[in-house]
Amino acid sequence: MKLFGKNLADGDRLEVAGAIVRLRVYRRARRVSLRLDRTRREIVATAPTPRLLAEAANFARERASWIAERLAELPDPAPLRPGMVLDVFGVPVRLEQGAGRAKWLEPEDGSTPRIVAMGEGEGYARAVILILKRRALAVLGERTAHYATQLGAPTPKVAVADAKSRWGSCHPGRSGGPGSIRYSWRLALAPFEVADYVAAHECAHLRELNHGPRFWAHVRDLVGDPRRHRAWLRTHGPQLHAFGR
Ligand SMILES: [Zn+2]
Repeated sequence: MKLFGKNLADGDRLEVAGAIVRLRVYRRARRVSLRLDRTRREIVATAPTPRLLAEAANFARERASWIAERLAELPDPAPLRPGMVLDVFGVPVRLEQGAGRAKWLEPEDGSTPRIVAMGEGEGYARAVILILKRRALAVLGERTAHYATQLGAPTPKVAVADAKSRWGSCHPGRSGGPGSIRYSWRLALAPFEVADYVAAHECAHLRELNHGPRFWAHVRDLVGDPRRHRAWLRTHGPQLHAFGR
């Protein structure tokens, strides 16, 4: 974190009014401006040139109360702690503390599944997130294979990451080979139908690399009307990004 008065660069982060302000150079911007990045939970101060970053930083400092108001609108951070119950693909899962490698336990009697991990604070959260990523990869990998097959496309490679701005991204394979799809692991915290829609959406991109009528026709063939799922992500997306913070 740099102090005011030093040379400022694109991507630098400052603290203003208890908030993180990320500086950004955007050549097409007309003037300095501020906005809230809801998924990263930080303020973005944009300037048209690196030279104007100091002006953007000062602008952020002048608007400290505006920044505080925007932050107050965000969903509360939800640290991952033992005792908490998370909905994972819509199924309640209890977080517990226990020694050894972090693991997912599925009781045979059908009672609530558990994630058992050790450590405290951020260390505990990291261990739980590792298990959630694995779960996301297993479920989304299965749904992806299912929808790719329905579309007559070779099964793509699937990966999960902590993308801030997209729930999924698709790179179709070259010359008919398998493509690759990357998902945000945080879809594991969405209802199953919503995560399933994102898998269908990304698989439809294996056929159509755009959001035109033929693309949406593929999506509707796979999962029906997508509008309620898209609305869910718009409304609840910021909450999914509040977990583990
Ligand atoms: Zn898309």
